Amino acid sequence: MSTRTPAAFIGHGNPMNTLESNAWTQSWVEFAQSFDKPKAILAISAHWYVGLTAVTAMERPRTIHDFYGFPQELFNVEYPAPGSPALAARVAEVLQPAYCGLDTDSWGLDHGTWSILAHMYPEADIPVVQLSVHAGEAYDYHHRLGQALSPLREEGVLVVGSGNVVHNLGLVEWSRPGRGAAWAESFDTNTAQIMTSDPAKLGEVLSLPEARAAVPTPEHFLPLAYIAGIAEVEGTTARTLIRGCDLGSLSMTSYIVD
Ligand code: ZN
Repeated sequence: MSTRTPAAFIGHGNPMNTLESNAWTQSWVEFAQSFDKPKAILAISAHWYVGLTAVTAMERPRTIHDFYGFPQELFNVEYPAPGSPALAARVAEVLQPAYCGLDTDSWGLDHGTWSILAHMYPEADIPVVQLSVHAGEAYDYHHRLGQALSPLREEGVLVVGSGNVVHNLGLVEWSRPGRGAAWAESFDTNTAQIMTSDPAKLGEVLSLPEARAAVPTPEHFLPLAYIAGIAEVEGTTARTLIRGCDLGSLSMTSYIVD
């Protein structure tokens, strides 16, 4: 009997979550402790949003601090997990006929990946490979790539998308910790209803009236398309790990495909 490693979408939110312990980060820890350690991790990060699909293929990916205006303590964070050229090659293989470049010297692990893995696997002893989000492709492309990643779950690979269902930094309200504006809560609820009942239709939420504010640019939403694709091709649905909004215009909702 084969066992499947879970797949997940984690709402990473404020980079300071890396250093904090709160309800969001505690849910990530509890998730990681709910199943056997994976053999390797494939992280699809909102923060590697470039003009092609690529995968990190170096032995030792560097820790990238891709933000500014945060305390030095956050710039001091290192996540020295090994890479896995073998998994990178396998990812490129399963994604065919889509092209996936093997990145040996450009990117590394950005905070979309390490802000959550620092909580889930603080020892940084599991090989991690990052997948970029192709900025030139529409929703359906990403959903299809997610479908293609499904076989990795039988190979002990944790596929984790890292982004935020609602992500509008221009509308952040620092006076609303733990809460969202009405439009943000509405979009988040609609997304949860689809993910938990019919993830094949996730792309339809992008036509909702709230989508313009919730998804002003697609990079934080699209990692969820990969997890929806996995759920659809396996004939299952996602469950929510934790639900809710933060700072008015961020959704911190996370999803699991068991
Ligand atoms: Zn982010």
